[in-house]
Amino acid sequence: MTDDYYELLGVSRDASTEEIKKAYRKKARSLHPDVNPSAEAAEEYKKVSAAYETLTNPEKRRMYDMGGGPDMGGMGGFGGGAAGFDFGDIFDMFTGGMRGRAQGPVPRQRRGGDQLQQLRIELRDVVFGAEKQISYTTAVLCGTCQGSCCAPGTSPTRCTQCQGTGHVQRVTQSLLGQMVTMSPCPVCEGHGDVIDSPCTTCSGHGRVIEERTLTVKIPAGVENGTRIQLRSQGEVGEAGGPSGDLFVELSVADDPHFVRDGDDLVTRVRIPMTSAALGTTIPLTTFDGERDLELEPGVQPGEQLTLKGLGVTPLRREKRGDLRVIVDVVVPTKLSEEQRQILERFAEARPEEKHGQVRQGSQGVFGRLRDAFRG
Ligand SMILES: [Zn+2]
Ligand SMILES: [Zn+2]
Repeated sequence: MTDDYYELLGVSRDASTEEIKKAYRKKARSLHPDVNPSAEAAEEYKKVSAAYETLTNPEKRRMYDMGGGPDMGGMGGFGGGAAGFDFGDIFDMFTGGMRGRAQGPVPRQRRGGDQLQQLRIELRDVVFGAEKQISYTTAVLCGTCQGSCCAPGTSPTRCTQCQGTGHVQRVTQSLLGQMVTMSPCPVCEGHGDVIDSPCTTCSGHGRVIEERTLTVKIPAGVENGTRIQLRSQGEVGEAGGPSGDLFVELSVADDPHFVRDGDDLVTRVRIPMTSAALGTTIPLTTFDGERDLELEPGVQPGEQLTLKGLGVTPLRREKRGDLRVIVDVVVPTKLSEEQRQILERFAEARPEEKHGQVRQGSQGVFGRLRDAFRG
């Protein structure tokens, strides 16, 4: 974070007014509260606006370039004598580094932290999308004090050490005259007020740790490791400050029957050698219920059949992928005497398949094998 006005706007020190205006417009577009409601953006927007205001005013810019604070435009140099000087401004002029610090007390409210929560989902949730409940431990607003940090019926009192300014000044003599150093008030820690009777429920923090349950909408088509951002569902800030965000990281459990391949689902069926030769219809369990899978006579090992529209619904789209079914053909390993004789007669009826005449694997067979391994 920088408070250098030129760096804030991203322009060189000799930039023209026109260049400064252009740089400001560009920054303001992305930081404007209407576009970016976050607290950081608001803070940045304020700084950038202050930089713009100073650098587009020739007199103010000249003072700023000399090392003066942003609000010194009307001071007119050193000629006026020490009586009219504000110590804070002198200090700013000499160091250039404390601008913005002496502006007033520091609010107690702080933005709460972001949180990361793991959520395990099933492949079915990826196919259709789902709503899931998650429970997590987080900081929530204290119900007793509603974030004021004070015991009921009490309120903060003005700090007598710093008179409510949040900072204390120390004046020292130096070669240049009086120097003022400023530091946060040690009594009120810079807040400008003091809580004499802290709320006992939250020990004066304005928030308490609690378990919270939330329904998370999971869009169809999410990937393993996708993080869903839930704005303001993280920790409530100190003293009722704005909440952080909750990030829900999804991990998709392995499915016993299906694997995902892009928008498609892939599964395997095992059928006996005879069914492959004769053709058959088998029941296939899908995420859309049971379907009849028709296998033509002569279906080959590794062959893929496609069931249109039974795959994954892609993220932010509607047309679903396909379900691809890879066929495994099971060759019997133990044959009874009778079965062996039948198969031998079968082989004799098909002269091209006699023992010793099996062709070496052709392109086609290996091609299918490759596909099967890929699937
Ligand atoms: Zn409280
Ligand atoms: Zn104080």
